[in-house]
Amino acid sequence: MRADNRVLTEEEAFAAVPVKERVLLLPHCLRPSEDCPGKITRDGLQCPRDCPHRATCAIGRLRDEAERLGYKGVCVAPGGAMALRFVKEKAPKGILAIACYKELLEGVQAVEETPAKEKPVILTLPLLRDGCVDTEVDVDEALRLLRLGAH
Ligand code: SF4
Repeated sequence: MRADNRVLTEEEAFAAVPVKERVLLLPHCLRPSEDCPGKITRDGLQCPRDCPHRATCAIGRLRDEAERLGYKGVCVAPGGAMALRFVKEKAPKGILAIACYKELLEGVQAVEETPAKEKPVILTLPLLRDGCVDTEVDVDEALRLLRLGAH
């Protein structure tokens, strides 16, 4: 609540969180399944610096921008359990979560049920096309949300 008694919108609340206290969660199904050279590790999908798709792949573009802005972390997860563990470890104050509707609903619920002194602000963006492989996201919209309040 602000001094003018207006409740902040989710986007305003997210914009008020310093970028160094935010994380970005992405689903690994956004990778190009045919020729992605990334490797799944305990911390999610890792993108090689020299990946030839880095400038065009949604994951590469969003990861690079989050890192450039100074985000606390980026997790490209194959499932909600890994994303939740990442959130517990990083304890962010703001989360931008991109996933299919089902994963978003389950993920938001899981984070809200996790005991924490201060609940993070969660901003969600559903995939344009889901289906578990070669999915799509509105990258421009994701970049806009990623940059909210960042300079
Ligand atoms: S940038 Fe895209 S194609 Fe390259 S490793 Fe990452 S997910 Fe795979």
